[in-house]
Amino acid sequence: ALRLRGVSKHFGELTVLDNLDLDVEAGERISIIGRSGSGKTTLLRVVMTLEQADTGIIEVFGRPLGWRLEGGRRVAIDAKANRAVRADIGMVFQQFNLFPHMTAIENVIEAPVHVKGEARASARERGMALLQQVGLADKADHYPRQLSGGQQQRVAIARALAMQPRILLFDEVTSALDPERVDEVLDVIGALAESNEITMLIVTHEMRFARDVATRTIFMENGLVVEDDKPSIVFGNPRMPRTQSFLKSIL
Ligand code: ATP
Repeated sequence: ALRLRGVSKHFGELTVLDNLDLDVEAGERISIIGRSGSGKTTLLRVVMTLEQADTGIIEVFGRPLGWRLEGGRRVAIDAKANRAVRADIGMVFQQFNLFPHMTAIENVIEAPVHVKGEARASARERGMALLQQVGLADKADHYPRQLSGGQQQRVAIARALAMQPRILLFDEVTSALDPERVDEVLDVIGALAESNEITMLIVTHEMRFARDVATRTIFMENGLVVEDDKPSIVFGNPRMPRTQSFLKSIL
């Protein structure tokens, strides 16, 4: 589903992604763990094309994103081709980023109607089904400020799903929530994972969730993938001393 080759990203002197390779098969759910500053969020942002990688190639279902290789050189692909590739990817953010002046259902149907040109009635019908799926059908006409953080985040998940992405990126989606609101959001993602073939990359500091929801776990340090294995191994019996010391430090 996703293929990264030699992807690097620098902010000034700081190397945030260090010549990273990653292959993700369709249907995999990968939890990405690591210390603050290890490059997890930047990895998602580069895949979402919110940041531009300095080097390397990213392919989404076999199609290049942003750049392709031509005789060993990186050549930018045109904006239209890029949009089509990017349409396969959705992202849910730490700060829910809902439009404050729109109700929940309006937030969910905004992109299908205005970006994809879907008819309002059909977008609304699909949107209501998605709100139902995240347990918020009764809040469809509420504005974000009338919703709790956990509810807003569930609307944000419905909004991402409304664009029917094949890959969904979750960036620390519970970090901004009150502790008692964390589980309702994790439960929605867990249910989604069970009912769906959608490929997921999940950056999280919730270690139990990272272990339980994922089919594969990646531990990152200094912009590199240090360990990449089944969750049972990464959490139960990590091979790398650096993973062991990270897990010890957070318990
Ligand atoms: P956290 O768990 O704290 O979110 P992370 O592993 O997701 O950490 P990143 O957010 O990817 O880490 O950030 C990696 C490093 O890059 C950090 O040191 C951060 O300060 C730096 N960084 C990220 N974005 C920028 C930017 N736009 N400009 C400059 N530095 C940045």
